[in-house]
Amino acid sequence: MEQIQVFSQIHGEKCWPIVGKLSPCEDACPVHTDVPSYVMAIAQGKFREALDVIRQTNPFPSVCGRVCHHPCEEVCNRALVDKPIAIQWLKRTVADMGLGEKPVPVPRTKKERIAVIGSGPTGLTAAYDLVRMGYGVRVYETLPIPGGMLTAGIPEMNLPKEVALAEIDYIRGLGVDIRTNSALGRDFSIDDLWAWGVKAILIAVGKQKSSELPIPGADLGSVFLALPLLKRIRLGEKVAFKGRVVVIGGGNVAMDVARTVLRLGAGEVHLACLEARRDMPAFDWEIEAAEREGVKFHPSLAPQRFIEKKGKAVGAVAFKRVARTWLDQEGKIHWDLLEGPGSEFTMDADAVIVAIGQAADVPEKDRLDLTSLGTIAVNPVTLMTGISGVFAGGDAVVAGGTAIEAIAAGHRAAESIDRYLQGVQPYAETSPEKDVLKLDPANIPNFFIRKERWSMPHLPVKDALRCFREVNLGYTNWEAVEEAKRCLNCRSCVNCVFERGQLCFETAQRLL
Ligand SMILES: Cc1cc2nc3c(=O)[nH]c(=O)nc-3n(C[C@H](O)[C@H](O)[C@H](O)COP(=O)(O)OP(=O)(O)OC[C@H]3O[C@@H](n4cnc5c(N)ncnc54)[C@H](O)[C@@H]3O)c2cc1C
Repeated sequence: MEQIQVFSQIHGEKCWPIVGKLSPCEDACPVHTDVPSYVMAIAQGKFREALDVIRQTNPFPSVCGRVCHHPCEEVCNRALVDKPIAIQWLKRTVADMGLGEKPVPVPRTKKERIAVIGSGPTGLTAAYDLVRMGYGVRVYETLPIPGGMLTAGIPEMNLPKEVALAEIDYIRGLGVDIRTNSALGRDFSIDDLWAWGVKAILIAVGKQKSSELPIPGADLGSVFLALPLLKRIRLGEKVAFKGRVVVIGGGNVAMDVARTVLRLGAGEVHLACLEARRDMPAFDWEIEAAEREGVKFHPSLAPQRFIEKKGKAVGAVAFKRVARTWLDQEGKIHWDLLEGPGSEFTMDADAVIVAIGQAADVPEKDRLDLTSLGTIAVNPVTLMTGISGVFAGGDAVVAGGTAIEAIAAGHRAAESIDRYLQGVQPYAETSPEKDVLKLDPANIPNFFIRKERWSMPHLPVKDALRCFREVNLGYTNWEAVEEAKRCLNCRSCVNCVFERGQLCFETAQRLL
């Protein structure tokens, strides 16, 4: 960019609608949140407006401000100048201001009633959309509290229960009826729902089973499966550990359970997984948090058997070293073992926690078609199962799963159900392709001043390990404004720079 002309225009709403391009952040977000608009609103101190923008597509802004895997930040053009904008932390700052708000209930305008099975982010997002369309919606949840993995899986230090429950209360306030301690397949059937006058059903039951490790000794005492253990702890049961705990698995659940048992009295926590360190499937920030708190990593190890000590309890784990791992087309891991001297390794353990994956526990599985992965088979566009009027979505349908993808699935399910009930072809329309404004790394305007990304303050490790208090403490409002000002606002400002060689006064003040 040779010549840049600064002209006087108050950057504002009038800039935004005229641009036909998407910024990479909104393109990468599974719910296509209008990131540039809310980050610009934060930069201008308009927190209320920012939250209103986020809520248009996301009923769980405070949850996502804490645990979203933020694909938006991975593609942020600002990374080509210095570091990506801390979009997730900005969302958290404004979203927390809305916690405890009571919405105006939405009047029921449609006669049809819809049943949603499961109150995780998929089910509750669908319920949020459907109730706002005027339908009667009842959500059935098997556990005593709603929220799915948000309240019964993800540990408290990452996502305090009251944060998730406050956002669920907001959804309730709109008119969604949530019945806890009510399970499809145990307390009622699909046929009961039809008989009660329900016109469409969404099954959003997630993946509630922990995969077992089929090796000798798996039934010994003090060998636990991660998910039921996390659930017991999250639901308030007192659980204690001591001595050395070995966690088996390299994913996010393994990191979460390792950090959890450190807070429950374990002297040391060792984490062993099949993958090499660089291939571990957990998010980088989860691995960093576990490492910071003292979890010891042992990559490239395949457990062979659990060794008994007296009293039928586990006393050690025998491993073989792994030469290489690879994933097949379905995403399943395979590995080759090393042979010969030094290929065997034994680790003492007072308890072992197996965290090697989750599987769907599908109710009424004799009636619903399943995939080879054991998830519910659906039409990939409409999310309808083999039973007319019965839809499924979220973790129960996909191979992996994250919170924001579950929210996206909830939106799609709601749209499809609405079309089905209105007698419109139940196809989610694909939106027309839009240009995404990707900066050319070789042609970054040299007038952008490098500015440090504001780091997230966190609890000192010694304090964090004594309790389940949230580790990330959040930005102050002032820090949020300063961080938001780093945004290049690709859809608008950067586009303007490239298209017109111009920069308005306000943008110049912010970025130069
Ligand atoms: C320990 C852990 C940590 C995670 N950390 C993160 C993270 O940091 N970031 C992230 O983005 N994602 C994370 N995830 C993944 C994320 O939580 C899930 O992808 C998301 O919750 C899936 O939403 P869902 O609504 O499809 O299912 P779920 O959240 O599992 O909700 C399903 C609900 O259905 C209920 N249910 C099941 N069977 C029945 C039945 N028969 N009748 C009635 N109700 C039923 C369940 O009790 C549950 O409440 C984590 C998951 C786990 C397990």
